Amino acid sequence: MGIIRQLYQLQELELDIEARETALARCMAQLGESRQLVESRSQVVQQEKLLEQLKGEQKVVEWELEDLEAKLAAATEALYSGRIKNPKDLASLQHEVAGLKDRRVRLEERVLHVMERVEMASVSVTGKRQEFGRAEEQWHGQQQKLAADIEQLNGTLSELRQQAQQSLAVIDPETAGLYQQLRKRKGWAVARLEQGACRGCGMSLSTAELQRAKGNRLIQCNNCSRILFQE
Ligand SMILES: [Zn+2]
Repeated sequence: MGIIRQLYQLQELELDIEARETALARCMAQLGESRQLVESRSQVVQQEKLLEQLKGEQKVVEWELEDLEAKLAAATEALYSGRIKNPKDLASLQHEVAGLKDRRVRLEERVLHVMERVEMASVSVTGKRQEFGRAEEQWHGQQQKLAADIEQLNGTLSELRQQAQQSLAVIDPETAGLYQQLRKRKGWAVARLEQGACRGCGMSLSTAELQRAKGNRLIQCNNCSRILFQE
């Protein structure tokens, strides 16, 4: 195989390695928890907190209602006990009982209201937990696939790197040096020669240059310095 073809194939190999390295880096970056999973978990925690808070509120209102019931029972008992004879005291007690009954109605409404909110929050917690479960399951699947892809990429890369090393080893040091220098500077060291023009920069070659390029000699593009390769 001619030296130019060897260089061209080495470049193809190295570009393939670079593409796989990019793919590997992309896979590696996706390892770990996804934003969606973190977000979904935080929504569960948020809803659970809200539910706990509402349950606390429910307890407080229920205790208030219990206290009020006790007061109302005591006042009602006193009112009908016959112990209080003074009309003024009786009137005042009646007024108190009526006031307590009003407060009871309002408190019962509050209990119902907070119970409804507890119910809604509880449904929401269940929903968010299910969502999280699904997100987690999906994420696990993705992570497994990623791990498999990474393993495969690493395997292929180590084979390709070995091939590239072997290919480079059989090229004379001077040419190899030029190739590597061009690769570093230009990305592509070897450019195809197509319809009389360098594919690296698009510049057309003179007839004399084209003539020189026909042999299996290493010639570089006048414009971009890339090594020209003709099939
Ligand atoms: Zn060129």
